[in-house]
Amino acid sequence: MSDTIFDKIIRRELPADIVYEDDDVLAFRDIHPQAPVHVLFVPKKSFATLNDCTEADAALLGKLLLAASAYAKREGFAEAGYRCVINCNRGGGQTVYHLHVHLMAGRQMPERMV
Ligand code: AMP
Repeated sequence: MSDTIFDKIIRRELPADIVYEDDDVLAFRDIHPQAPVHVLFVPKKSFATLNDCTEADAALLGKLLLAASAYAKREGFAEAGYRCVINCNRGGGQTVYHLHVHLMAGRQMPERMV
């Protein structure tokens, strides 16, 4: 069984401020928010990194992003804008090895990377 912090949150062994859940996705507030809104969208199925996903996971990856945009619309900041980020491995700044999408909003995001 995978045993990252996020796996424990999914299994309700650790507390989290959960803002959304469906059969495949759990979303909760980041414990060290980098923006007024900072929510992590996590697949319940465990992948260490984006590199571990395959073609068979395409629909699930789509669901993660759609859950994030639906949350942005529901919370009323979709039009103002937001940023979604996936960090992959050490060079990408990943610290928790359970795939997740950061959704950040509520302030002007700094410099563009691309
Ligand atoms: P990353 O660096 O992309 O792997 O992102 C991991 C994120 O998880 C960081 O932004 C952390 O602040 C966040 N984090 C770590 N532990 C927790 C926790 N127990 N609850 C919520 N967020 C957490």
